[in-house]
Amino acid sequence: MSKVASETEYQVCTNCIMDTSDPKITFDSNGMCDYCTNFYELIEPNWNPGEIGVNKIMPIINKIKEEGKDKEHDCLIGISGGLDSSYVAYIAVKKFGLRPLMFHCDTGWNSDLGVSNIQKIIEGLNLDLVTEVVNWEEMKDLQRAFFKSQVPFVDTPQDLALFSAIYNFAAKNNFKYVITGGNISTECVRESLDWTYFSTDTKHVKDIHKKFGDKELKTFPMCDILKYKTVYRWINGIQVIKLLDSVPYIKKEAIKELNRLFGWQEYPQKHYESRFTRFFESFWTPKKFHFDKRRAYFSSEILTGQMTRNEAIERISKPELDEITMRNEFEYVAKKLDFTVDEFEKIFQGENKSFKDYKNNYFFITLGTKISKILGLENRKFR
Ligand SMILES: [Zn+2]
Repeated sequence: MSKVASETEYQVCTNCIMDTSDPKITFDSNGMCDYCTNFYELIEPNWNPGEIGVNKIMPIINKIKEEGKDKEHDCLIGISGGLDSSYVAYIAVKKFGLRPLMFHCDTGWNSDLGVSNIQKIIEGLNLDLVTEVVNWEEMKDLQRAFFKSQVPFVDTPQDLALFSAIYNFAAKNNFKYVITGGNISTECVRESLDWTYFSTDTKHVKDIHKKFGDKELKTFPMCDILKYKTVYRWINGIQVIKLLDSVPYIKKEAIKELNRLFGWQEYPQKHYESRFTRFFESFWTPKKFHFDKRRAYFSSEILTGQMTRNEAIERISKPELDEITMRNEFEYVAKKLDFTVDEFEKIFQGENKSFKDYKNNYFFITLGTKISKILGLENRKFR
């Protein structure tokens, strides 16, 4: 029998490091959490990185090559500069012989290291790159609105832009195949919706913007998840291919390989290619909302055998950034978003809200993911 831990009772999984900071987590009689059970029962048995996975994916790779043989590029790959997207570009080109057009969406928050890593991959693999720059005034306005709304997932505007820009580009330019760096290896523990609500629920985004935004969003890339799952999938015929689940993808080895071949430099933490995300994950959410997204990242790595539970406990016991850096970043982000430090501090101290406080399409989206789960298209837990 599993039970939902009460709000006052602290519990941490005995197998990974997910804990009751996720309000809906449940534990079995051995103290193992439902993310772990889900991984062992549903994800792991269907995950074949290596020969079986490669054999399974070859028919689609051959189809991509065949259909694209007279075109300049046969597929589209989004690159953020992070490890997943950099490594998938390398695998697509060097292991599978694909000829991708690379796509980058610049939301105004690229770290210097992120920019340099993108360049290294593009030049090292001799690829073509298209960059879409999001209108900064609109980006800023939507980010300000999210901060004022007091929901925890203030990275939604950035996430939505990255997602929408590439699929809108694919639809407009008739790309049928989008290769993504999404993977089980580092992302099998999908954070609770209380931590990160669907950034592609545009009903939700628009409601928050209507209540707290000041400017009209004229060019902001916006692709709703329901449009993506229906029109883009079935009318435009866009297919998303997750190559990294078919090959061995061990984070430490991938970093070494990219470094040796292209001089690609490691980040101290996942998602640190964006200065905003670094601030958001290492300061805003742990300090204001009392959850640490590293729990999900490290737990994924524990489950996929890349980190021991003790290492994870050691890492999570210390913040990723020191106090002085965090303070500097607080002021940097406030200034960049046109908040005074006082205004930003007030928001930080303000009452926290959740996605349920604003209009949303939760019902339809979760219905969609439940159907995907029944059909075996999605094995991660959504709740
Ligand atoms: Zn667990």
